[in-house]
Amino acid sequence: MRLPNLHKLSVKTRLAIAMGAMFVPLVVLAGGALFYFEKGINAFGKIENQALEVLFPLADLEALIIDTSKPVKDYMIDGNQIARNDFFRNSQEINRTFAALLNVPSNLPAQKKLLQASQRQWQETLAIGQTIFAYADPATNSHAAQAAEQFYNRNSQVVSNLDKLYKQLTDFQINESLRQAELAKQQVRIIVAIAFLLGVSMAIITSTIMVRSIVEPLSVLEKGVAQLGSGDFSYRISLANQDELGQLAAAFNLMIEKLQQSQTALKNLAILDELTGLYNRREFNSQLKNELERSGRFGHYFSLLMLDIDYFKKLNDTYGHQVGDLALQTIAALLKQEFRALDVVGRYGGEEFVVILPETSAFSAYTVAERIRQLISNSALFTNEQQTINVTISGGVATFPIDGGTQEALIYAADQALYAAKRSGRNQIIMYGSLTVKKIF
Ligand code: GH3
Ligand code: MG
Ligand code: MG
Repeated sequence: MRLPNLHKLSVKTRLAIAMGAMFVPLVVLAGGALFYFEKGINAFGKIENQALEVLFPLADLEALIIDTSKPVKDYMIDGNQIARNDFFRNSQEINRTFAALLNVPSNLPAQKKLLQASQRQWQETLAIGQTIFAYADPATNSHAAQAAEQFYNRNSQVVSNLDKLYKQLTDFQINESLRQAELAKQQVRIIVAIAFLLGVSMAIITSTIMVRSIVEPLSVLEKGVAQLGSGDFSYRISLANQDELGQLAAAFNLMIEKLQQSQTALKNLAILDELTGLYNRREFNSQLKNELERSGRFGHYFSLLMLDIDYFKKLNDTYGHQVGDLALQTIAALLKQEFRALDVVGRYGGEEFVVILPETSAFSAYTVAERIRQLISNSALFTNEQQTINVTISGGVATFPIDGGTQEALIYAADQALYAAKRSGRNQIIMYGSLTVKKIF
C-alpha cells in the first residue's frame, strides 16, 4: 500500500493527526447515539401527542354520548324541560367533538372510517332523540316509549363502536411505541457496530502509518548509528523524510562527514610530510616493509629509488630557505605526477626522496629515474623574482631481491648507488648493480 507523502509533515503533526483519528469513532458513537436518542424521543413524543389529540377527546366523546341517555330517561318520566336543554347542549358538544376528531389528520384510514360510521350512527341516534323530545307527553305515549327504546339501543351501539375505536387506537399506540423502541435499539446497535469497526480500522490505519512514517525511519537512523559505532565513516543515512527525522539524518550525515574529514586529516598528519605532502619517512618505511613481505611471498621483484637534490645547501644559502622550501615542494609535486599511481613516493630526509616501484626491474627503474632527472635538469624548476632557479638531482637504484633482501640492505644499496652518483659528478642515476665495489651484507 502506498501512503500519502506523510514524511513532509512534521512528526508532531502526524502524532496529533493520529491522536485525533482515534477520537473519530468516539465522536461517531456519541453523535450517532445522541441523534437516534433524539429521534426516538421525538417519535415517542409524537405518539404522546396523538393520545392527547385523539384518545382523550375520544374518551370525552364516549362519556358525553353515554350521558345523553340520562336526559332522555328524565324526559320520559315527566317531560322535564331541563332534561331537554341538557340533551341538546350535550348533543351540540358531541357534534363539535366529532367534527374536531375528524379534522385531526390521520394515517389510519380504517380508524377514520370507524369514526365516520360512529358519527353517522350518532346522527341517527340524535334524530331519534329529537323525535322523543318532540312528544309533549312522553310518559304516556307509546310511540315515545318505542323511540326511547330505539334511542338507548342506538346510543349503546355508538358507544360500543367508539369503545372499539378507542381500543384499536390504544393498541396501535402501544404497537407503535414498541416499534419505535425496537427501531431505536436497532439504530443504536448499528451505530455501536460502525463505531467499533471505525475504531478498529482507525487503529490499524494509524498504527500502520505511524510504523511506516516514524518507526521505519527510526530503524534506518539506528542502523546508521550502529554503522558509525562499528567505525564505518563512509556510511551515509539515506532518508527522504522532510520532517524532524529527515533533519536528524541530515545532521547525522554532516556529523559523519566532519568526522570522516577530521579522521582523514589526522591520518594524513600522521603519514604525510607537512612540507611536500609526500609520505613521511615513518610511513614510507612501513610501506617498504609491506612491499618486502608481499614481493618476498609472491617471489616478485621491486626497485627502490633514492633521489637527492644536488648542491641544495648552496640554493638555500643563495636564495634563502623559503625558496629552498618551494624547490622541495615543486620537485615533490613533479615526482608525484611523473611516477605511476602504484609507486610509493616519500620524503626520506631534508632534500632526499625515496620511491618504491613495485614489480619493476633495476633497469626499468633506472629508465624512469633517468627520464625524470633529465626533465628536472633540462628545464628551469621555477622563476623567482626575475631569477630562474635550476636544480639537478642525483639518484641511486636498488632492486629486491638481488641488491638486498631486507629493508636495511636495500636502503643501504640505494644509498650507495646515490653516493656513487654524487661522487661521479652528480646529475645522474646509478644502479647499485652496476657498482664494482659493494658492501656485502
Ligand atoms: P649534495 O649535492 O652533496 O647533496 O650537496 P647538498 O648541499 O645538497 O647536501 P647537504 O647535505 O650538504 O645539504 C643539504 C641541505 O638541505 C642542508 C639543509 O639546509 C637543506 N635542507 C634540509 N631540509 C630542508 C628543508 O626542509 N628546507 C630547506 N629549505 N632546506 C632544507
Ligand atoms: Mg643534496
Ligand atoms: Mg642530502
